[in-house]
Parts: sequence; structure tokens; C-alpha cells
Amino acid sequence: MKIYNFSAGPAVLPQPVLERAREELLDWRGSGMSVMEMSHRGKEFISIAERAEADLRTLLAVPENYKVLFLQGGATTQFAMVPMNLLGERRRADYIHTGEWAKKAIVEARKYCDVNVAASSEAQKFSYAPVQSEWQLSAEAAYVHYTANETIGGVEFHWIPDAGAVPLVCDISSNMLSRPLPIERFGLLYGGAQKNIGPAGLTIVIVREDLLGKAPARTPSMLDYAVHAEADSMYNTPPTWAIYMAGLTFQWMLEQGGVSAMEERNAYKAALLYELIDRSGLYVNPVRREDRSRMNVPFTLRRTELEPVFLKEAEAAGFLQLKGHRSVGGMRASLYNAMPLAGVQALAGFMAEFEARHA
Ligand SMILES: *Cc1c(COP(=O)(O)O)cnc(C)c1O
Repeated sequence: MKIYNFSAGPAVLPQPVLERAREELLDWRGSGMSVMEMSHRGKEFISIAERAEADLRTLLAVPENYKVLFLQGGATTQFAMVPMNLLGERRRADYIHTGEWAKKAIVEARKYCDVNVAASSEAQKFSYAPVQSEWQLSAEAAYVHYTANETIGGVEFHWIPDAGAVPLVCDISSNMLSRPLPIERFGLLYGGAQKNIGPAGLTIVIVREDLLGKAPARTPSMLDYAVHAEADSMYNTPPTWAIYMAGLTFQWMLEQGGVSAMEERNAYKAALLYELIDRSGLYVNPVRREDRSRMNVPFTLRRTELEPVFLKEAEAAGFLQLKGHRSVGGMRASLYNAMPLAGVQALAGFMAEFEARHA
């Protein structure tokens, strides 16, 4: 039976990437070593890290005046590093509140500054992305933070906000590399790799150089972007295996036609599922149409008593990890780059058949 893994993260990886890693596992290209055994300062690993960064820069067309950092600690550490590093002399930051992940970023930022929640969809149960005209930005903000894709709620910004001269900061953990992104519109972008890129353990930060060096002197070195930028992400031992795996995924994406090709496929895959849900009398997705996520498709059943049955039968049919996040329940299908179209078609077929059976 073919297995499809719809986990929200750590998530499915491209089959060719895993095969390549298997081939190179014991002996990386005649070096006699596994990548896991290499010194991060040796020429072999340096070449792996440099290639990974160069390929990521190509994929996202990262301008010269931006640093790409390979860090650890997950996006959750970024919730603190962003205010620690970007506030400078200012004491206020703007946040857009769109759900569980935005909330975590806000809670953390409140430890460091006065958070102005410039827009929030909370009153509508986080079912949409607030349009720009709803945003009440404050003049004194050091930066504006938003969450490009709410992994749990399934809400995605399909447009780039305008923060004027204030640096725009974005959590792209769950849609990084799923589509092209105009990096020059942002001050800083960050995300964990385990959703759309590679194994857990790697956090990617893309930051405009002029924003570096503003952290207070007491900032721990590990939490100071400038320290990592200065050391080319080798201030301490980086997550070597995760960087290697991410590099393989970047190569795979380039071979597939880059992020535009990813976007085209992702739009098609997501539409397949949303159309089925909207046609159905059983499945419901609560998100405003124009803000629906292409990466994470949450849904519930009108007959809630059928939800455990659905999950059980889905698992038995090879559709794994469809259970919604523990905070919201229901179901969620994550359709990252590595989820093949065949997987989404098969799931849609199962869902239609399940509905017919229980009509
Ligand atoms: C998963 C996720 C996080 C948290 O990432 P960790 O790597 O677990 O810290 C933050 N933001 C978003 C949007 C996520 O999807």
C-alpha cells in the first residue's frame, strides 16, 4: 500500500532527496566519511554549506545586501531574537495577530517591548488574513511582524504587506520556498526547516545587513544575528546534517524548476482539496476563500461524530497524520512541496468515497 504522510511538521521530504541521502550516508562522495561525522570546519562540509546557501539564494533571488543565516532553536527562538536584535533604541513593535503562531510571537515579544497588535482576526476565530486597510500601524514601531502562513489555522497571506520605511518581519516557517517571494520588500524573514525543507534542527534567517548590530551588549552571542553573520553561521557547531539535507532539497527544487514551479503545483494541489471540500455536504473549511493556505488545509466534518472514524479509516488506507493540531482538533492535510500530486488526488478520492459511504 502506498503511504502518504500529511504531517504538518516534521513533514514529508522529496523521495529523491531521501534516496540521495541514503546513497551518500556512509561515504559522502569518496570522502570516506558520513556527513554526520565531518568537522564543520573541514573543506568537505564547508563546500556543502556554501552550496546550500548559494542554492537558497538562487531559489529566492536573495539580494546581495541580505545575509542568509543557518541557525538552531527553531522559529520559536526567533520569536525572541527578533525583538532582541531589531528594537534598537525603540520600545515598540507592531504585530499582526492571525492565530496560534502569531500569538506565540506576540507573547514572546511582550517580554522585550510594548507590542501594538496592529490588526487581529481573533474576533472571527482567526478565519482570515486582515487586509492592509485594517492595519493600525504605530509611528514608533521598530518593525512590523506577521505570520505568512498560519500552519494550524490554515490562513495564508497571498499578498505582501506594505510597512513603509519600517522593516517588515515575517515568519515563513510553513510556506518558505512554496512560492516566489520579493525578499527586498522585507527586513527579515525566518523559518524552521522541518515543514517544507528538511529535517528538524535548522532555522533559516534572511536579514537585511543594515539591521544587524543593534542588539544590546548584554545579548548572548548565540542570540545575536551580527555574531552569526560575522562568522558565516559557524560561530559554533551548526546543525551539519540538517544543513546537508536542506541543501539536497534546494538542489531538488532547482531541478524541478524552482519556486515558480513549486507555486504552480502547490496552487493546483490545494485547489483540488478545497474544491472537493466546498462541493461536499460533509467537509467544512472555515477560512475566507482568498486567504486559504496552500500548505495546510484544515477541515472538520459536519457530522463531528464521524471524525474519529474518518481518521481511523484514512490511516488504514495509508493517509497518515491527518489529525488536526491538538489546540483546534478536526483534520488537517499539509501539502508541502514534497507532497506529490498523486497523494492529494488519492486523498481527495478517499474523502469523496468516505462521504458517499456515510451520506
Ligand atoms: C512550526 C512553526 C513554528 C515553530 O517552529 P519551531 O521550529 O517548532 O520552533 C513557528 N511558526 C510557524 C508558522 C510554524 O509553522
